[in-house]
Amino acid sequence: MWEEPAQTLGERRAWRPDGRHRTYPSYITATSYRSTSLHVRPDDLATCISCGLCLNDCPTYRVLGNEADSPRGRVQLIRTLVATEAVPSDDLAAHLDACLVCRACETVCPPGVPFGRIMEGAREVLAERRKPGRVRGFLTRLGLGTIADHGRLALAARAADFYARSPLPAISRRIAPVAWLSSLAPKREGAPYRPAEKENADVCFFAGCVMRESFGESERATVRVVERGGHRVSAPVEQVCCGALHAHSGDGDEARRLARCNIDAFAGSDNPIAVNAAGCGAHMKAYGDVLADDPAWRERARAFASRVRDLTELLKPTPSRTKRPLRVVYQDACHLVHGQRIRQQPRTLLRATLGVTLVEITDAERCCGSAGVYNLTHPEVSAELQGQKVASILAARPDVVVSGNPGCILQIAAGLRAVGSAVPVVHLARFLDDPAAF
Ligand code: SF4
Ligand code: SF4
Repeated sequence: MWEEPAQTLGERRAWRPDGRHRTYPSYITATSYRSTSLHVRPDDLATCISCGLCLNDCPTYRVLGNEADSPRGRVQLIRTLVATEAVPSDDLAAHLDACLVCRACETVCPPGVPFGRIMEGAREVLAERRKPGRVRGFLTRLGLGTIADHGRLALAARAADFYARSPLPAISRRIAPVAWLSSLAPKREGAPYRPAEKENADVCFFAGCVMRESFGESERATVRVVERGGHRVSAPVEQVCCGALHAHSGDGDEARRLARCNIDAFAGSDNPIAVNAAGCGAHMKAYGDVLADDPAWRERARAFASRVRDLTELLKPTPSRTKRPLRVVYQDACHLVHGQRIRQQPRTLLRATLGVTLVEITDAERCCGSAGVYNLTHPEVSAELQGQKVASILAARPDVVVSGNPGCILQIAAGLRAVGSAVPVVHLARFLDDPAAF
């Protein structure tokens, strides 16, 4: 790894690992392009002015050091992709696949390029025009199909739990090809959560897919902390996976099908919909975009999206206390901090807990490398980002790490275990529900 050159905000410039500032070929500033695909809107692409202010904040550019792995480079590649109907090259597809869709570039982008939306559209174009290899295609279908099927996901979560509690992970740590995958297998937090509908509720709860199977205690804690605030929580039983992973993987048809199912499942009231997983919340707040081209669903999708709230947007600070003084690190999930612009709410809730000293880490808003299934598809980049995050966390000497996203929790817990740290990593809801337990 290299050191970032010292710079002030006024001096922000793109930099490279070799320390030289990059000059850009003229095509990069070209503004005449068109889109042959409905999935990528020309207006979105037009917002990028190629200023390069996003480069320093892009995790993949920082790790790979290649313009094509930066937001600006990727916007240019997507312009090239949609300018014709040609089958894209392997090289172009690899640079777009290597994006975490962390949306850190959106946070720093002066004209507000909607990069997440652009990338989801581009991935759908890639999926339409390229045939994946047999093995990759099978694994992608298997993974996304399992996420969207409660029965299959429950079986997979049970198998992962059995594996994680057996002696096998200790053995597989010595076998390089499976060690990484093995380190991420989640142990279940108690029994799975099962949605339950209640009469006279004023808040709905979206339980997610991995959350309900592997984070049962965090789910029950979520319901408790919301109800302790004076609400009554109902979780519609017909709800399904939010579809975020499908959208990120280019399976737009399935993402739209799942969005329609959820809109129907939550149609019984106008109550706010509480979400405790950053990726799900960010995606469901964008259902209006997901179904923007479907006149029959567009308005319902917008109305649904306006009801979605991250858990921290619903909670008010309440007095509670820890059993002992605790140094707490709050890990910003990308799809909360960049996708939903939620920074202060979780920190305010944690600071209200007596006994908590909230400790900030360096590069708090940089991705931990989890990013949905990115840690499975791009293990090298993911491991590099995981290592950086773990080093920042350990430097803060925390007693507990708290996050609002299951992917971050699994990724950081695996990284801490790998360096011999026993610092617990828990969901924010669990911590707020019973801070004396830590
Ligand atoms: S994405 Fe935004 S910050 Fe990055 S080059 Fe384009 S306009 Fe500039
Ligand atoms: S979404 Fe994240 S990884 Fe992708 S280009 Fe933007 S900052 Fe880089």
